[in-house]
Amino acid sequence: MIREKRLFCKLIKIKKSAQQLYAKEKYLHTKREQVCPVCGRRGSWQAHGQYERSVIDYESGRVVYGRIKIRRVRCESCGHTHAIIPDYIIPYCTYSLLFVLRVLGEYFLRKRTVEGICRRYNITPSMVYSWKGIFEEHKEIWLGVLAASEQTGGAFIRWLVGEPNYSERFGEAFFKKTARSFLQRHRETARKQERRPSWEWQHVDADISRLFAGIVP
Ligand SMILES: [Zn+2]
Repeated sequence: MIREKRLFCKLIKIKKSAQQLYAKEKYLHTKREQVCPVCGRRGSWQAHGQYERSVIDYESGRVVYGRIKIRRVRCESCGHTHAIIPDYIIPYCTYSLLFVLRVLGEYFLRKRTVEGICRRYNITPSMVYSWKGIFEEHKEIWLGVLAASEQTGGAFIRWLVGEPNYSERFGEAFFKKTARSFLQRHRETARKQERRPSWEWQHVDADISRLFAGIVP
């Protein structure tokens, strides 16, 4: 996997969803200076097809479900293939980075109750707590245990969305430090987590009219 830097500004300034960002840039190609994560060779790529993945976003006050195409490239030097994942997508997570940060922002800044957040974003409480868990784990990795204990989730997310250049000053640095993207779980865990909502849908949000209140006008 190659993470493609796309968020060169403050996240708080971005008015578009991942799907809208993708639509704007789909004719861009991998930069020739990109290094192969396997062999370290720079800029020797062949196009190697593409695949579609689901992405769930929040646009103009509602949850939107869509698909984007992920390009694959093959390194001419070592032959390994890599998916190019723009950094507004969290690997193995259907929800876009901005969607998850929006939910966490509302949670940590106490804009809504968990129940209110779930209604607004069409998600289950366990998803909110699961994202909160990975957010706190990654905050601790980034800041160190001691500093993380002194900084609230709200303060950290405020800092994060206000960073002048998310991709270069945080996204890329986090990836280098941990070999994982921010908010990315291990693949196995992520798959288990993504199976969970459909099961809990029946149990937690059985009342469909209540679930859609505030989402569908
Ligand atoms: Zn290579």
